[in-house]
Amino acid sequence: MLAAFTCNGQDSIPYLTGKVKISLAQGTFDCEFTMKDYPIIPDYLIRINSGMNIFWFKNEKGYRLLYDKSTADSTGTFESCDYSFPTDYRDVDKFLPPELQFRYTGKYPVVRDTTESGDVEANDWRGNIAFNGYSVRADGLQSAWYPELYDIKKKKQYERVRYDMDIDCADCRVIYVNGVAPIKGTHAHVHSEVPRELFLFAGNFPVVSSEGTYFLDAGLSAAQLHAFAKMTADAKHFYEAGFKVPFMDPITYVQANPTAPRYGFSFVSFPTIVNVGFGEYALSGFHDPANSPLYEVMSHELAHYYFGTIRQFNTFFGAVLQEGLAEFLALNVLKNEQADTIYEKTLLGKIKDAQTFQQIPMSRLNSEKDFWNRELYVYYFAPVIFLAIQKEIGDSATWEWMHQLLTMPTQWTDYAFLETTLQKALGDKAKSTALAAKYFETPDALQNAIKELAGGPVHP
Ligand SMILES: [Zn+2]
Repeated sequence: MLAAFTCNGQDSIPYLTGKVKISLAQGTFDCEFTMKDYPIIPDYLIRINSGMNIFWFKNEKGYRLLYDKSTADSTGTFESCDYSFPTDYRDVDKFLPPELQFRYTGKYPVVRDTTESGDVEANDWRGNIAFNGYSVRADGLQSAWYPELYDIKKKKQYERVRYDMDIDCADCRVIYVNGVAPIKGTHAHVHSEVPRELFLFAGNFPVVSSEGTYFLDAGLSAAQLHAFAKMTADAKHFYEAGFKVPFMDPITYVQANPTAPRYGFSFVSFPTIVNVGFGEYALSGFHDPANSPLYEVMSHELAHYYFGTIRQFNTFFGAVLQEGLAEFLALNVLKNEQADTIYEKTLLGKIKDAQTFQQIPMSRLNSEKDFWNRELYVYYFAPVIFLAIQKEIGDSATWEWMHQLLTMPTQWTDYAFLETTLQKALGDKAKSTALAAKYFETPDALQNAIKELAGGPVHP
């Protein structure tokens, strides 16, 4: 397991130590960190959330560093500022010391009213540092509430870190950080040698543990808890059996109140699945989760443990793989764990939506614009294509393909990577070339997939 992490994840993994002080009432973060053991990248940036005010950066000797700051946020999610340390040399414009110390403070709006009467023009999103009066929610990938190294040339962000830190929150009763079980109290010492994206959720809310899964502030009945726990276990077991790579820790569901009314979205930050929503958008809004679209949504999110966490994707084409494969795997969970009619209905729905536009073949995509509609391309068209290939090559070769997609070393997860993994999995150049011609290189790919799938239990 660890081997999979180190060979496909981050080459050398930053180690972050320090102290964090949070106030729910004030909406503040006071952070003091030391970061070391990171790769010395020539063309780097340090991302830190744009609401954090820097008091100092220091080097390994404790000397303050002059710094350059850009508000551009080169990663494109717009939550953070970029920092770097300039040099006096003419041909080297920045340097990265072997150790960095940070001290900064941030203050954020505390938005208490998320009901219909609340501020309808307010907003909420994954990378928001969200204070709602009784809890705080901050992801790692986008919010960058802790310092994150970014390799510009490789477009690689080091949001996953090993860590050892003390978190104090005088008005919290529970503190949770990815990698450790939720801790009750106003102080938490958290430590992980396994790299994590530091999703943080702290405040005053109940914690329930059911069948090896944690639920934070979920507000679920006993029957709903059981249904969620079973749904999680079904998908986990299916993936573990196929990939032969076990899940690292218990899955934790977080139900968070948004900082804006009528907001509902979910995201995964392993091992946490976060649902942000109020009322009908909350987890408790699903009376029978196992017989709802949530079954597929959660199977999709759990697939991101493999495609999205162990294997991280880059280039615009990464979306076809990360989302297309997660959706493809979720459909496989449905096919295996649910009644045939549910799978068939879901697949027919996918095909119908994929038919609403003419796709540029995967091999000819040059930029995100070529998707025409990203949602339809990566969540609808791509999984249908992958299902048709699965039908042609069978389950065992498909798992071998998934294994190659998960573990084959590559710098770029582009189209060439997709084709190479299929070829390696099949060990038959003629066959993989024929499949590529039929599904990756022609504008008739969708029609070919529908024809292939129609020969099975599905009749579109
Ligand atoms: Zn996804």
